[in-house]
Amino acid sequence: MDAEEYKVRGKEMVDYIAAYLTGLRDRPVIPSVRPGYLRPLLPPGPAQQGEPWERIFEDVERLIMPGASNPASTELQIVMTDWLVNMLSLPDTFRHDHPDGCGGGVIQSSVSESTMLALLAARTRALTQLRGDVSQDIGNDALLNSRLVGYTSDQAHSSVLKASLVSLVRLRSLPTDLEFSLRGETLRRAVEEDRAQGLVPFFVCATLGTTGVCAFDNMAELGPICRQEGLWLHVDAAYAGTAFLCPELRDPLRGVEFADSFVVNMGKWMMVNQDCAVFWVADKRSLQSTFCVEPHYLQHEHSGSVIDFMHWQIPLTVRFRSLKLWFVIRSFGLDGLQDHVRRTNKLARYFESLVREDPHFEIPAKSNLGLVVFRLQGPNELTKTLLRRLNESQQLFVAPAMAGEKFIIRFVITSQFTTEADVLRDWRLVSQAATDLLQGSAAKDDTSGMETCIVGGREEETTLDHQSQVKGV
Ligand code: PLP
Repeated sequence: MDAEEYKVRGKEMVDYIAAYLTGLRDRPVIPSVRPGYLRPLLPPGPAQQGEPWERIFEDVERLIMPGASNPASTELQIVMTDWLVNMLSLPDTFRHDHPDGCGGGVIQSSVSESTMLALLAARTRALTQLRGDVSQDIGNDALLNSRLVGYTSDQAHSSVLKASLVSLVRLRSLPTDLEFSLRGETLRRAVEEDRAQGLVPFFVCATLGTTGVCAFDNMAELGPICRQEGLWLHVDAAYAGTAFLCPELRDPLRGVEFADSFVVNMGKWMMVNQDCAVFWVADKRSLQSTFCVEPHYLQHEHSGSVIDFMHWQIPLTVRFRSLKLWFVIRSFGLDGLQDHVRRTNKLARYFESLVREDPHFEIPAKSNLGLVVFRLQGPNELTKTLLRRLNESQQLFVAPAMAGEKFIIRFVITSQFTTEADVLRDWRLVSQAATDLLQGSAAKDDTSGMETCIVGGREEETTLDHQSQVKGV
């Protein structure tokens, strides 16, 4: 939706809300629909082509308002998370309507919270198993908890560490291979070492699309080990998950059938507003054992026979997040969403080609999807200074990361509005800033060889050793 249409639709929405408020007393207080009313009224999956806004908006009054906030919110969430299982080619066991009836998706605010839910559910499963294992000298839950150990890679997002801190379980950060991918043998060795120490391995968080360089852990190797060793496999596909809309980008999903849980943040790349991470579990029972409390005042006539997401998560009252997911999926259609992924990837490759043409830069890790990582040849301080100057220019924003020992700049395209001209403009800014930096540094080298740059958040004077790669002189 462009700015002009947004103005029109926004005004219509205000009118709709005003009419709702005026007619409030004429509406039923409690929805008249029966549980399960919504699914038969919706198609089994998204349309291939995007739909006009009028049609989507009409359906709000026709399909959603009769179900008021609930059950409409719960039911739309169920249907949208099921649609997405197929759209992303995830295992059917993640669908609410799978014949086993064990799995399903729930929308959370963020991947960080979802990873914590996964870890807590995995902990419940592990503690339950330990309590039932007569061969173990069990002790109380606190003692058992202190024996648990989880694993992730040294490229994982800090939210995995945060989840382990909150739940007081040990987390090992395992080394990755030369392509920043966690491999099966590394996990197997860690599990053996820890079992020999009397610890209880219980959880693995694999990443598909790491924050730093968008690397993919090898799930085809990790999955079978997790299954064999009884470890809960959680998959963090925060950003890259959206790529799986496209069949040609699904290679990293090999082994996903072993995953116990999986999460994608739809706000990162799928053009949904922030606050929409879809989290799936293959078996909801551990999640429910973790969060199920049923005070008298929350019981209702359908308790136990319908899905109550309050038993899957910490909050009771939540926003109607499925609505924006429904709007976006219908507005773009499957074709439109796939086009978006392909187009942004193509723009990233264009940026990469510009960087590669310039000998002062290097691309220290394979560029995946919409992300390009690059750095100036030479010491890290040069690239740090470049990043600082670029962001201070207020004309573009780029984020830092480390690829091994190398400080890198991350350039990522996720917006539907970015054009080839924007990318070229950005590259020119990067190239000009590098020229200025290298020329300035060369001049300084002639005198003191000192340059000011930010190191660890402090301004420091750092000696630059780049005589051989001065740009443009
Ligand atoms: N996981 C990965 C791989 C990420 O890149 C990020 C954020 O950039 C996160 C998790 C955190 O996501 P959220 O902001 O949804 O908590």
